[in-house]
Amino acid sequence: MFFAPLRVMQHTVKIFAGAFFLLVFVGFSWKSTQVPSPSKKSPAFSAGINTSIKKAFLEVWQHYKSLHRYGFEVIQTNLTSSTMQAQPVINLSQVFSSKRGYKLDVAEKVLDSGELNVADLPEEVLRGWFAHELGHIIDYENHSNLGMIGYGIRYSLSDRYKREREHEADSIAIRHGFRKEIIAAKKYLLENEFISSDYQNQIKKYYMSIRGAELCPDELGAILPKVKLNL
Ligand SMILES: [Zn+2]
Repeated sequence: MFFAPLRVMQHTVKIFAGAFFLLVFVGFSWKSTQVPSPSKKSPAFSAGINTSIKKAFLEVWQHYKSLHRYGFEVIQTNLTSSTMQAQPVINLSQVFSSKRGYKLDVAEKVLDSGELNVADLPEEVLRGWFAHELGHIIDYENHSNLGMIGYGIRYSLSDRYKREREHEADSIAIRHGFRKEIIAAKKYLLENEFISSDYQNQIKKYYMSIRGAELCPDELGAILPKVKLNL
């Protein structure tokens, strides 16, 4: 009996999370109809962005050539629930079309790390992190603009779907040549004590393990093995 109300409550929280994502998505789409379209220069960086962030991002960006045709912005901003967030930029009028841009929000500080600046992360870790985020964007390419709404809702509501998407972002990064950097980022986050254990547990729950990254194939085989989840 004790667990029943708790489960209902967790479910309610998840529904709220899904609805919140939808509102943010629509809100952002609405907002983006009010601002001028981004300049032709892509990727564009927010004013005053840290130079090591910019340098590391550009090194990774060179390996994701299929994204070069899009408007892309890297914005350093305050994030409260993550360290980096890769998102499609879709105007409300474009929901039923295929036009879109992308943006990557980068927090000033690593989530739950106290005072660790993202810009102070070792270069290899930063590159691994960016490669993972651009992996998400390649994954978004498999979804229509309308489909992205479903993606957002499923990601918020389903632990299993979230885990699959996070694993896929890592495998895409590895297929783009960033295995060493992905492993370095995982080791850094899991082995440093100034990263909170809550955050480390989230990483263990949703992300590919270090061993998984070592074994992940360089190329897609004819049959993609289903990720086995050990919970
Ligand atoms: Zn991710």
